[in-house]
Amino acid sequence: MNDLEFKQQVLDPKGTFCAAKWYNATIWLGSGQTTSCHHPPAHAIDTEAIKTNPSAIHNTVEKKIDRLNMQLGNRPRGCEYCWKIEDMGRDAVSDRVYKSKIYPIEALNEAYTTPHQNDVNLRTLEIAFDRTCQFACSYCNPAFSSTWVRDIQRNGPYESLVSDGRGHFTHTHDASQLYRFGETNPYVEAFFQWWETDLHRTLQELRITGGEPLMSGETWKLLDWFKNNRGKSSTRLAINSNLGPEVDVDRLLASIEGLEVDIYTSNESVGRQAEYIRDGLDYSAWLANVRRLLESNRIRAVHCMATINALCLISLPDLLTELVNLKQEFGRERVSFTLNILRFPSFQSPLVLPDYLRRTFQINLEEWRADHLRSPLMHEHELNHLQRLIDYLDLVKTPHSEAFELPRLRNDFGQFYQQYDQRRGKDFAETFPLLKDWYSDLQLQ
Ligand code: SF4
Repeated sequence: MNDLEFKQQVLDPKGTFCAAKWYNATIWLGSGQTTSCHHPPAHAIDTEAIKTNPSAIHNTVEKKIDRLNMQLGNRPRGCEYCWKIEDMGRDAVSDRVYKSKIYPIEALNEAYTTPHQNDVNLRTLEIAFDRTCQFACSYCNPAFSSTWVRDIQRNGPYESLVSDGRGHFTHTHDASQLYRFGETNPYVEAFFQWWETDLHRTLQELRITGGEPLMSGETWKLLDWFKNNRGKSSTRLAINSNLGPEVDVDRLLASIEGLEVDIYTSNESVGRQAEYIRDGLDYSAWLANVRRLLESNRIRAVHCMATINALCLISLPDLLTELVNLKQEFGRERVSFTLNILRFPSFQSPLVLPDYLRRTFQINLEEWRADHLRSPLMHEHELNHLQRLIDYLDLVKTPHSEAFELPRLRNDFGQFYQQYDQRRGKDFAETFPLLKDWYSDLQLQ
């Protein structure tokens, strides 16, 4: 069954159902927050509840209300991203499909008919232990990166931002790291307790994220658990890593011997444009690390997650070509990509660009997709992600329903990158010559 058939035959009869509300979670143990996938805003985990029920790090009251809403055919407010895609028409396939299709049909039926207040064991989990990270990407913020924290501590808040993104860049988000290193964190304790009692048996995939998880001691502790408990768990392991030059790839490869591991890494452009967007990246070192992982044969696959923002569209096709070359060399199943459209902070969305640039990038992507449409190296979801990005650039006018109007988003785009250049020693106009004229003509408030 292809993605569209799955949507029409399996999901649509269940109204607004999405299995991620039951079986998938992202949990930030540093801040004690969780969400079902990356789109709905995170909410707090109840510290009282986890004292007696460690599964409450996932089975929160908020998710149970969303489950009920889905069972009643309502659209949970936080799921706007998927509905924006599906409401475009053109048979667009949203993440609701990808997040559900990975589970057996019986599991979907079980979730749909389970009383919403019941606790459910996760099948896929993304977990972040803390925000330690040596990168400070432009679309990230201090809540997820200790290097971003240092930028704000040294240089103060970003100024003169007026749209919904402004709060991301004005303070150090101390609530994201509630406990100091060495202090007991009840959320981490609850995770390891749930892991030991249930999760290591029921979880299909555990994905460790950050910050940069390979710079967190808890990640290595978990990898040690797998090493010391061989055969006890069949959970597939996945690690999100920026694969920066500081990442200890040798230690990683030594730690995962005999395990089934996927690496997810972020990138959406090439060369110095990639290094501008993802501050801390060394593009050549990143590519060399990707190749080393693939050559080692200890990694099942490397998946590149592209966060589609206003700056990456110039060289996104070059990155996709690079990934196709890797597929050619290492095999279709060992390299894949996803295109995830940035919505927050909305002033970095591709939708802030003027129509002529959007149209230019749309045409480039259409050509790239047409050239690869029949390639046996392409996955169906990759072609679908490309098509939905092309449609998004064509049809969608605002990044999300509460996005501020365009002049304010463009003000923040200009204000932000001026300050980013000064703080990080970068040069927007030199790095993105195609955007230079539009950028220099921006009317700043
Ligand atoms: S419907 Fe979309 S936004 Fe909501 S949980 Fe599922 S994948 Fe996430």
